[in-house]
Amino acid sequence: MREVTETELRSCFVNATQRELDQMPMPGLHETIWAEREYLGWRDQRSSRIGYLVHWRDDELIGVVVRSAPGGMRPGIAAMCSLCHSTQPATQVRMFSARLASLDGDTGSSIGTYICEDLACSHIIRTGPPHLVSPERVASRGAALLGRVTRFTQRVERASREA
Ligand SMILES: [Zn+2]
Repeated sequence: MREVTETELRSCFVNATQRELDQMPMPGLHETIWAEREYLGWRDQRSSRIGYLVHWRDDELIGVVVRSAPGGMRPGIAAMCSLCHSTQPATQVRMFSARLASLDGDTGSSIGTYICEDLACSHIIRTGPPHLVSPERVASRGAALLGRVTRFTQRVERASREA
């Protein structure tokens, strides 16, 4: 993905409350290897439930705040991330929901989906035995990942406008 600045990040969220924006921890933008990112995802270390997911849609930067559901999935089973389609131990995939309005409080509707717990799908699709991470394979998985992320944030954005 193309590099982003702190200023761009602060104004790109479609469903964040003012408080969430004020308290948003900045990801390590200088350490980010942009060429190996389809989207930028990070968690708030102080509030273990909150996560941030940002990507470019053409020239527009789109961000969505997500919250992980309390309690994880049952250990010992496998689960699939709905964004990168990687199958992983269930403890590494979580149900996240995106609130459909930038209003304070936990009320209101939301859209939920299963995502890699650390929001690091871009890293996951580049990790594995060599035959699974050939440049061609990573490129096609990356394109599919970005397509799914775009559809997810688009649903949140549209519904937020109507909410
Ligand atoms: Zn994933």
